[in-house]
Amino acid sequence: MEKLNDFNIKKYLWWAIPLIAFGGLFYPKLGLSMLLIMGIIIGVGLFNGKYWCGNLCPHASLFDNILKPRSFSRELPKIFKSKVFKWGFFTFYMIMFIVRIIRVSSGWGSDGFWDNLGFLFVIQYLVMPTILGSSLAILISPRTWCHVCPMGTMGQVMDKVGSTLKLNKRTETKIQISDKDDCLECGLCTKACPMGLEPHKNFNEGNIFDHPDCIKCGACINSCPVNILSLDKTDIGGRETDIGTTV
Ligand code: SF4
Ligand code: SF4
Repeated sequence: MEKLNDFNIKKYLWWAIPLIAFGGLFYPKLGLSMLLIMGIIIGVGLFNGKYWCGNLCPHASLFDNILKPRSFSRELPKIFKSKVFKWGFFTFYMIMFIVRIIRVSSGWGSDGFWDNLGFLFVIQYLVMPTILGSSLAILISPRTWCHVCPMGTMGQVMDKVGSTLKLNKRTETKIQISDKDDCLECGLCTKACPMGLEPHKNFNEGNIFDHPDCIKCGACINSCPVNILSLDKTDIGGRETDIGTTV
């Protein structure tokens, strides 16, 4: 099996954060780039689940590459694994977001409309994933925020929609094991997983790790000493996925 390339653009995507979150304080229209980012998250989610979170998210790049060496790397508190907390936070976030959008929209057509809309996104980007996510990354573990991030949850919802509509039948990739009998059960893949998942214990009968929280980052692939893991298309459209399950 082929290992994922060590040189990856995701190591440098964190540069988008100072640009949008801090640059946006001086030039609010930079915040409008969030509309594009949200569109990409929805599009990627429909065709390949949480791929965004493992490969394209600037905050994930910050957590994995800049903050990981500075993290206390503590065990994830149970509340971050709670489905109730995750979906409750997602619902709260979306309601607040829509209310703010409606408020700003009342100024549609005015001179400052686009600045006000951009500023709303800038503040959202600065407070939630940047300040809160970075604090959690240092105080607990690098990917703590990713367990409750509303954009990640959005990707998960879109994955469910994509599966239901069979849009991802030929596009969705999942971690696969070539032969379970070749597994040494060393647990290195589980140890490497930034989401605290346990791939080596949870391959299904089709040799697929079908977990809704898998962000398809490939860390498990690169950690396997016998190269039996891969991230491949599954052609399993129409499957039923329990979007709230955690291992
Ligand atoms: S199971 Fe593998 S690909 Fe999925 S989140 Fe964990 S390390 Fe990344
Ligand atoms: S790292 Fe490879 S050999 Fe070790 S438990 Fe995971 S799949 Fe098995």
